Amino acid sequence: MNRKLILCVTLLLLQATPSVLAQQPNASQRSYQQARRVLDDAIEAHGGLEALRAIKDFTLKEKGKIHARFQSPAAEPPFVTGTSEETLIIDTERGFVFDDLKTANAGFNNWIRTVIKGTEGQTFDMWSRTATPIPNPSVNNFRGQIRRLPPFVLLEALDRAPTLRWVGEDEIGGKRQKVISVLRPDNQVLALSFDAQTNLLTRYGYLYADPITGDSEIAQNYSNYRTVGKLKLPGGRVLYNSGGVIQETEFTDLQINTRPAESVFQGPNDFEKLTTPPATPPPPAVSKIADDVYLLQGLAGGTHNVLFVAFNDHVLVIEAPEQIIYANNSVLALAKIKETVPGKPIKYLVLTHHHSDHAGGFREYVAEGTTIVTTAETKKSLEKAATSESSLLPKLSRQKLAIETIEKKRIFKDDKHVVELYDIGPNPHANEILVAYLPKEKILFQADLLNAAANGTIPIAQDATISFSEKLQQLGLSVEKIYGVHGRFVTPQELQTSIERRRASELKVGTN
Ligand SMILES: [Zn+2]
Repeated sequence: MNRKLILCVTLLLLQATPSVLAQQPNASQRSYQQARRVLDDAIEAHGGLEALRAIKDFTLKEKGKIHARFQSPAAEPPFVTGTSEETLIIDTERGFVFDDLKTANAGFNNWIRTVIKGTEGQTFDMWSRTATPIPNPSVNNFRGQIRRLPPFVLLEALDRAPTLRWVGEDEIGGKRQKVISVLRPDNQVLALSFDAQTNLLTRYGYLYADPITGDSEIAQNYSNYRTVGKLKLPGGRVLYNSGGVIQETEFTDLQINTRPAESVFQGPNDFEKLTTPPATPPPPAVSKIADDVYLLQGLAGGTHNVLFVAFNDHVLVIEAPEQIIYANNSVLALAKIKETVPGKPIKYLVLTHHHSDHAGGFREYVAEGTTIVTTAETKKSLEKAATSESSLLPKLSRQKLAIETIEKKRIFKDDKHVVELYDIGPNPHANEILVAYLPKEKILFQADLLNAAANGTIPIAQDATISFSEKLQQLGLSVEKIYGVHGRFVTPQELQTSIERRRASELKVGTN
């Protein structure tokens, strides 16, 4: 080896040394760096960090369509299309919210106004003319609505920069996308898709297990970008859930930093003032409502109840609630039922109607060997759900899926207990819908037809409630207490009052 060569090799080694000593970025660092470039480019494309951070308030008017996926009167598509109209004014700096939302869909016609001012907030039911205080109000209650503007989604992602990762390339509507992920404070792994040409946000969403459709994505798509001052903002959005589109809206007006007067953030002051609902609902608990008749309240995050009856040699359960994001509610329900009535097999599960939040928890009962009792339409939808391939939902043994259907009426009885089931459909809420009547106890159990609010008040009757009340009269049942899947029990007198209030209100039947 001559000297020249040795010098050369030494020089090469010396040159190489710093990069050998410096740590090579590993796979997750490279993934972060790539994702960070995508986010930085997007922030630039939307108007630049300074312009994004300068958004203090916005006024957004929307008009749109709602698609009641698995929440329509019929189980099969086409799902009914309702309408939504909203005015949303948010001032993030002062912590102010004004939201006026009208929706009409599947037997329910709601007009709700929400006002939040710092740590004070109220919800106004514009049809019932009632004002309900919001427990622990904050502008952050409207995080989901704030994300209707992509700048807030980007800033949220920037705040969580160390959790950014490159996901890959994709195509949406024929356009190439760069996709990155970020871990949101609520522990959702969000995928953000950016148009590869414009770097504008096309979509954000996260994966979840849907009780009916299986592996699914809750997502929001943005479209029709336009220039508003220094910013690029969309002209509409599409919301995805339960395996498809649930809302499509057009931004009919969007203004930034108008600093709305404080007087804008106010609701009507002549409405009946109701009590504040609990900030967090009580945990699930069983209460005995008559001999061998129990109510499990507070399932699915505090919103759903289950009724069960201990017959001499078995248990009959009504309803298997599940959330949109599958959360093993029936595991908890089964444990509570077995604890309350030990040693008796759970022979029947009655499902009132096909909606995912009422029937979605059926899988665990099938595993128990329980026979499902429901209407023909719900049977069809469950059989379809049973075929959805999902690695996120519990496995379902199709051989064990046993469903018996009810035409108009079925009676379950032994020497001490009687439960009568009636299909009281068609109802604006569901074409086929079962109610359970316990003649000895004069108890009726229903789902979605009459719902007490979280603070226990009974709102004015919706179309679904009016139809329910008419069917009850036709059946001529002697009822003292109407229990429901949602909320506290209601007396027939309260039902009557709710219908009379509806008659006196400006909301007309069938105004969908
Ligand atoms: Zn329903």
